[in-house]
Amino acid sequence: MPFSSLGLSESLLRAIGDSGYTVPTPIQQKSIPAVLSGRDLLAAAQTGTGKTAGFTLPILQRLADKHFDRNRPVRALILTPTRELAAQVGESVTKYGAHLVPLLKSDVVFGGVKINPQMIRLRGGVDILTATPGRLLDLVAQNAVKLNQVEVLVLDEADRMLDMGFIRDIHKILALLPKKRQNLLFSATYSPEIRKLTQNLLIDPVRIEV
Ligand code: AMP
Repeated sequence: MPFSSLGLSESLLRAIGDSGYTVPTPIQQKSIPAVLSGRDLLAAAQTGTGKTAGFTLPILQRLADKHFDRNRPVRALILTPTRELAAQVGESVTKYGAHLVPLLKSDVVFGGVKINPQMIRLRGGVDILTATPGRLLDLVAQNAVKLNQVEVLVLDEADRMLDMGFIRDIHKILALLPKKRQNLLFSATYSPEIRKLTQNLLIDPVRIEV
């Protein structure tokens, strides 16, 4: 199955070509059409499966398809357990979105570094924000970012976020989001805690296991 059969735009296919990918991975074959359709998604996927492109590509397309708001409220929020993963996801968003016109703005925020530069960067607005939960809540408390226009939420490596004790932060963040939105949850394992979270969060999700 070629990438061109998944419903992605020319500019995204160009970025995929730049990355040197020739065929979509199994998770991408399933997740890209599912996310483009607007459905919620529950994906059991390990790192290394190509899951990052599996959600960033269709999110970029969904946001690029819609009316451009020059205030740039956060429209896609990607939560990750660690700063390393956040940085990696942010790089993917930048790489895959490189040929979009107009460009979507993306940023990455995480704890363990000064908050002020992040606050200043967020002033100009950002379409796609990748964040670790604690720092995101700090930024919300400082009024540096609003989450009331989020259209797509991703919980990446949700099992690791729960293992690291982020469940309360996740619930606080969920309370700040609009009710009507698309939710994508990626987890390598499926514990009772993850099951509970998915039952609360996801509506009739497409399920993918790879
Ligand atoms: P991930 O599982 O998202 O961390 O991706 C693992 C690695 O696979 C990354 O280095 C990606 O650049 C690479 N990758 C993602 N999709 C493809 C693809 N369709 N073909 C080849 N490599 C890919």
